Amino acid sequence: MRLLAQREEVCGVGRQLRLDRLVIGTSGNVSVRVDDLVAITPSGVDYAALTAEDVLVVDLAGTVVEGDRAPSSELPMHLAVYAATDARAIVHTHALFATTVGTAVEELPAVHYAINDLGGPVRVAAYATFGSQELASAVVAALHERTGALMRNHGAITVGATLASAYERAVKLEWLSELYWRAMQLGAPSLLSAEQLEAVREQARRKAYRA
Ligand SMILES: [Zn+2]
Repeated sequence: MRLLAQREEVCGVGRQLRLDRLVIGTSGNVSVRVDDLVAITPSGVDYAALTAEDVLVVDLAGTVVEGDRAPSSELPMHLAVYAATDARAIVHTHALFATTVGTAVEELPAVHYAINDLGGPVRVAAYATFGSQELASAVVAALHERTGALMRNHGAITVGATLASAYERAVKLEWLSELYWRAMQLGAPSLLSAEQLEAVREQARRKAYRA
């Protein structure tokens, strides 16, 4: 079986998405790219029952190379992100707070310096019908120089060099969205400036150098 390790990794993250309540039912999707192949979750299979055999392998044009099921309906979005960026893994969720915030703002602002891991304030991709090329293009635009984006009235997407890092960012984006939502209940939260975020990056570099 091709990309067996990656297909098993996709299953593991799928189960974790359910446990962490970042998706409900069969919503959301996960993929990993290796060279010119992509392992991606199938359409309409509950993550609790997902096996490596259910995970599809497709080429960068979207042709199924291995697997009997239909690939995720968001395959065009995954392929567009791989074509436009150097991402090697993608996690798409319908996480509650990220989806909530994505209905109300143009971007998730810097309420906490952890947002640096997503590249800075997180844009909201314009709404388009799920599975459409239009949605894929909107998400690619929102991901410019970012590793995460919210998707208007839909959900969230994060990318990484590994599936573990894309998943960690999915959890972080949901945490930041909940933090923002909670802070908004108190009034207008203070936000970090671009200079303050740059100082955090500089500090991280210094600490890494010392370590
Ligand atoms: Zn979705």
